[in-house]
Amino acid sequence: MFAMAARRLGYRVHTLSPDHDTPTGQIADVEINASYDDLDAVRAFAQAVDVVTFEFENVSAAAVAEAERHAIVRPNGRSLSIAQHRIKEKTFLVEHGLPVAPFAPIRNEAELAAAITAVGYPAVLKTATSGYDGKGQVRIATPGDVDAAWTTMGRREAILESFVDLELEISVIGARGAGGEWSHFGPIENAHEQHILDVSVMPARVPAATAALAVDVIRRVMDALDFIGILCVEFFVARDGALVVNELAPRPHNSGHLTFDACRTSQFEQQLRAICGLPLGSPEMLQPAAAMANLLGDLWEGGEPNWAAALAMPDVKLHLYGKSSARSGRKMGHLTVLAATAPEARRLVLEARCRLKI
Ligand code: AMP
Repeated sequence: MFAMAARRLGYRVHTLSPDHDTPTGQIADVEINASYDDLDAVRAFAQAVDVVTFEFENVSAAAVAEAERHAIVRPNGRSLSIAQHRIKEKTFLVEHGLPVAPFAPIRNEAELAAAITAVGYPAVLKTATSGYDGKGQVRIATPGDVDAAWTTMGRREAILESFVDLELEISVIGARGAGGEWSHFGPIENAHEQHILDVSVMPARVPAATAALAVDVIRRVMDALDFIGILCVEFFVARDGALVVNELAPRPHNSGHLTFDACRTSQFEQQLRAICGLPLGSPEMLQPAAAMANLLGDLWEGGEPNWAAALAMPDVKLHLYGKSSARSGRKMGHLTVLAATAPEARRLVLEARCRLKI
């Protein structure tokens, strides 16, 4: 979707990833197949382009530094290294006075015992690196769970985080340009199934004060990191109304895929504008509400989904990413619907997704 936004504005796109025939590669002018740690390949890639950006944050600091020697890299390496490491991320947030759930860093068994005492039950043990969509995390409800959780996680560097009694989850996606100019899409409400984003609805059902606080948090994060590009901040809203940051994603985010259809300027075009030094576009919504439903590989279990049945609803937009095989839990595409109200948008997008199984 970023490559599409870039091509529409007349840019040429090169992409580097360990895979062949990737969704981006199908749209890009040049697809390079190399490991993110192949510094020779990263150097050749960066020498051939003007600006480098990311759709995935787990790129090594060495690779980012190599790219920075030959091209403009946005967002900067510091933002990536903070977002890809939960201990660094939470520490950064606390140092900037931003709200997080009680947590403790864990680098060995002794720290785990101390963390349990400090954080209490229930808690979630999360690996410091490479965790996403609920991978690399285990819930700890009682003292009996601790040893098994530590073993399951491979005794790796981790954080222990207090389990939040959730009212709902929201995200705010912000765009920040090279001169510090700034824009955001407002809070989006996210529902997960088995830790994977399932449905996003915009605007989120949160009080105005919560929305304003969330927007203030992301603004402060972006300014503190001198961030250029798109940043998503995921938040938990607790039942008592408290707002805490869950995590940072330094790239276009799945919860913002609906902006492609719902807003004057999508998160992908905003990313392009920000990294290329262009003015940011208007994030204004085209209708009062929008909803997005993810399409996971599981939908293909009974054969090809019934696209025509969903597209018979005239307001439904279908996006398929061109991934080669439909594995269970793999994000293959999404549906978007715009409507007059958020409940109506949610209802319609869920109806459209049900129709795929007719
Ligand atoms: P994460 O990979 O950290 O974004 O976690 C994936 C999902 O697990 C979140 O979107 C929440 O639904 C749930 N989760 C993670 N951490 C917590 C927590 N501390 N309290 C409650 N739910 C959590």
